[in-house]
Amino acid sequence: MPVSGKPVARPARPGLLELTYLPSILKGMWITLRHMFRPKVTMQYPEQRWSLPDNYRGLPALVRDEEERVKCVACFLCEYVCPPKAIHIEAQEIQTGVEKGPRVFEINMLRCIMCGYCEEVCPEQAIFLTKEYTTVGVNRAEMIFPKEKLLEMGGIRPDPIKKWQRLTSKQGPSETAHEPVCAGRGTAR
Ligand code: SF4
Ligand code: SF4
Repeated sequence: MPVSGKPVARPARPGLLELTYLPSILKGMWITLRHMFRPKVTMQYPEQRWSLPDNYRGLPALVRDEEERVKCVACFLCEYVCPPKAIHIEAQEIQTGVEKGPRVFEINMLRCIMCGYCEEVCPEQAIFLTKEYTTVGVNRAEMIFPKEKLLEMGGIRPDPIKKWQRLTSKQGPSETAHEPVCAGRGTAR
């Protein structure tokens, strides 16, 4: 059977200069030299950090209001919507008598996918996604962040809901304790 197709042109045999690899070495060095004078695109992490956009979704954290009161009322909505079930809450009664607060509030950061559903669903604006993205731990237990750590991460946020103000006007200032005070173990899950 006759063979069809075009014959492939063979590359020319390298000359004496090519056999020394000098042209290729000089070409490579020229490319390196040009890059030395271009702006650097690498960063000295972790000393240098990226500037993140305002809507960046990092690790979730709990927040306090201007009076340093824990805003979470342990309604369990965030635990309910969390897709990977990363949140665990146990509730307790607080001194106001009308609301409750979290006795235990844990987020398993190994599970958290930073979807922001907890922030979206929270009726008290008590949980927010921070810009923190570095999570390190030497074991799995360290990656389950307790309430105190979550509150430390979240810090203080102005409270647009002002529920405590409404309670104060109804019940008097003595009823509004800063930190929810346990008046007995409440519902858990
Ligand atoms: S950000 Fe998403 S995955 Fe993480 S705790 Fe909130 S709801 Fe759960
Ligand atoms: S963080 Fe918000 S949604 Fe979650 S339990 Fe507390 S008040 Fe409810």
